[in-house]
Amino acid sequence: MPKCLRILITAGPTHEPIDPVRYIGNRSSGQMGAALAEAALARGHQPTLILGPVTAPMPQGLRRIDVETARQMQEAVLREFAQNDLLIMAAAVADYRPRQVRSEKIGRKDRLVLELEATEDIVAAASAIKGPDQRVIGFSLESAGNVERARGKLHRKKLDLIVYNPTDTMNSPTVEAVLVFPDGHIEQLPCRSKRQFADNLITRAEALWG
Ligand code: C5P
Repeated sequence: MPKCLRILITAGPTHEPIDPVRYIGNRSSGQMGAALAEAALARGHQPTLILGPVTAPMPQGLRRIDVETARQMQEAVLREFAQNDLLIMAAAVADYRPRQVRSEKIGRKDRLVLELEATEDIVAAASAIKGPDQRVIGFSLESAGNVERARGKLHRKKLDLIVYNPTDTMNSPTVEAVLVFPDGHIEQLPCRSKRQFADNLITRAEALWG
């Protein structure tokens, strides 16, 4: 393992505009990204944050790139990934965006039908170009008990580790996570503060270079 890891961390939601006023997005504060960046700094690593529109306070003294949409996040991740050893994709990327963005605010009417298209799968695109010395960690927020769905995403997106966490984690100060590895083994972590969880995850990440 390189002693000082360069770690690219994405966090927060993405906002996909409908018109100049409204957007589609997931509920996400960015707290997990802040905790991961703090844990990485405390261990002497070099984190870079790529952030959607977050509300949580972020640590200072590190490189921070702010984006709004999934497309902008994908551009930033694919541009920065080559200069990093590890990508931790903690962002809650919107799965869909409106096919057409209206240039003027849509007036109120009885009914509005929006046509949506899928956004880019950012972490899958990064995994597809990862070098032999690079590692990628994803997150999988699922309804309780759906570890198998997380395992499916681990394989489909070619990740080195996926963090399964139940939907109660959203906007919560604590996290009860299960780590799922490509060789099939899983590790249940006790319910902890996001900062304690982040320390654990950085330790597991360091071990990914075996
Ligand atoms: O949304 P989903 O459960 O598929 O997210 C699993 C992982 O994929 C997360 O790490 C998330 O950040 C990432 N993802 C992504 N691009 C998307 C959707 C999810 O990179 N469009």
